[in-house]
Amino acid sequence: MKDNNCIFCKIANGEIPSATIYEDESFRVILDLGPASKGHALILPKEHFKDICELEDSVASKVLPLAAKIGAAMKKSLGCAGFNVVQNNGAAAGQTVFHFHVHIIPRYENGPSMVAWTQGEETPEALAETAAKIKSAL
Ligand code: AMP
Ligand code: ZN
Repeated sequence: MKDNNCIFCKIANGEIPSATIYEDESFRVILDLGPASKGHALILPKEHFKDICELEDSVASKVLPLAAKIGAAMKKSLGCAGFNVVQNNGAAAGQTVFHFHVHIIPRYENGPSMVAWTQGEETPEALAETAAKIKSAL
């Protein structure tokens, strides 16, 4: 299903032009307008899903193989040393467009640092308590 008010629905379905690097029946892969590094791409399903929790399994199962294919092509064509696969869910996690998408971000030697966090510390007891909470909701 498409959402008529969703910009990524319009881009994914070709109603708004984009720098497309890949397209098949389920996905369009475009270059991000505000790239974190040269070649930063977004995998967009053609169907509207708000986030990963809404994504259908049949679409989800194709996402990681496609991310690997795009990343490998970036390494070959752009000479990046690696790439990050990033996917934000919810405003608190940095999601700004509420149509599921996956960022593929090329990483270059001596390029900008990104996708990093400061490691905290937890006791084994606190880890066990948190694990039990999440397990109870699965
Ligand atoms: P997120 O913060 O995970 O929701 O990522 C949204 C991404 O979409 C950002 O990196 C934006 O730069 C990018 N973006 C927003 N609008 C467009 C657009 N019209 N074409 C290409 N990229 C876009
Ligand atoms: Zn959409």
